[in-house]
Amino acid sequence: MTASKITVTTRIEREMVDITEKVRAVIDQSKVKNGFCHIFLPHTTAAITINENQDPSVARDIMRAMDRLVPWDTIFEHNEGNSSAHIKSSIIGISKQIPVDNGMMKLGPWQGIFLIEFDGPRQRDVFIKVVEC
Ligand code: ZN
Repeated sequence: MTASKITVTTRIEREMVDITEKVRAVIDQSKVKNGFCHIFLPHTTAAITINENQDPSVARDIMRAMDRLVPWDTIFEHNEGNSSAHIKSSIIGISKQIPVDNGMMKLGPWQGIFLIEFDGPRQRDVFIKVVEC
């Protein structure tokens, strides 16, 4: 089966967008009961992470920490001016794999799946493949 694509439109330059429910809908449609859900982001200035989605201050703290780690005003060679976003994307990564048991993702009670926009606003594609095994 081919990968499903969801589209996420980010609204500002940098933000974390909770895509947990969109991923859950893809798993429901797949009819896969036991296997893995693989999430892949075909972009170089965004990332995928799994972290707390109950208290929104966690996402804000992650974004502030990433800015301290790789500040925008650092001098970089890449002349597009968005190396900070490229580096953050590489640090966090562009894929995740989540076990699926009885049709449900095995996420912890505080966990959500986030697309992280580091150079928006943009339209981002996310490919999701649910594999029975
Ligand atoms: Zn660039």
